[in-house]
Amino acid sequence: MPELPEVEITARLIGAAVAGAEIESALAPGINTLKTFAPPLDALAGRRIERVRRRGKQIIVEVEGGLALLLHLMSSGRLQLFDKRAGLRDRTSRLLVRIADGRELRLREFGTKQAAWVKLLERDALEGDESLARLGPEAWPEPPADLASRLSEPRPLHAALRDQRVIAGIGRSWVDEILWTARLSPFKRGSDLDADELAALSEAIASTLERALEHYERTVALPIPDKLPMPLEVHRHEGEPCPRCGTRLEAVNYEDYVMSYCPSCQTEGRTLKDRRLSRLLK
Ligand SMILES: [Zn+2]
Repeated sequence: MPELPEVEITARLIGAAVAGAEIESALAPGINTLKTFAPPLDALAGRRIERVRRRGKQIIVEVEGGLALLLHLMSSGRLQLFDKRAGLRDRTSRLLVRIADGRELRLREFGTKQAAWVKLLERDALEGDESLARLGPEAWPEPPADLASRLSEPRPLHAALRDQRVIAGIGRSWVDEILWTARLSPFKRGSDLDADELAALSEAIASTLERALEHYERTVALPIPDKLPMPLEVHRHEGEPCPRCGTRLEAVNYEDYVMSYCPSCQTEGRTLKDRRLSRLLK
């Protein structure tokens, strides 16, 4: 699940490698991957890539002449840069951007669902596009100074921090690490945080995401691996000892994801495995 650190390292490494490169052609083999029709994908041919950047969990490839590709990897997409072109039989391919020197920028998606998407937009239209216009401020490098008011609704932190309108870039994996680092219960309501807890949360957001990025700077290289080596210590580590206190990590299982936490560090020793019970835990 690519979140802020995974998308940031992807944008950094690919951006450094393709800035200035000329696009030969582009095609979108994915079903419904391309969400826009004007300008057409053919408009990319012959233009140079200017830079690649990230906003929230999305990647923006800026192309000369005022165009931009906006990509969302969703839960199982990867943007990778290969030295050679893919055969058209690669069923994971959703978008292929062929570089004039023979390299290929490839949006691939693993799994059965086709959810990753791409928009080709005039750069002027980028910020107004619904997927960017609704995004809250970036979680990294500095969490928003108004985090307290952004979390003022009585919602559990585990949900509020993953709401991209509240703060952009955090998802199901890193939220567990952040709350564990801040020693806060995933079910504590944002509106119940005191000043010390807010400061701890803000610090944990910044330090956790920064640590992940430093790890990726050391371990990730082009073409960008299919599976990123996520340095998670708590998320999906239920049953193992807490790296801080040794207590057995627990988890609440939802239909399509898992929330992991340390009962000693985060929930005053209480263990909850069922989300109906989770309402009792703040
Ligand atoms: Zn612990």
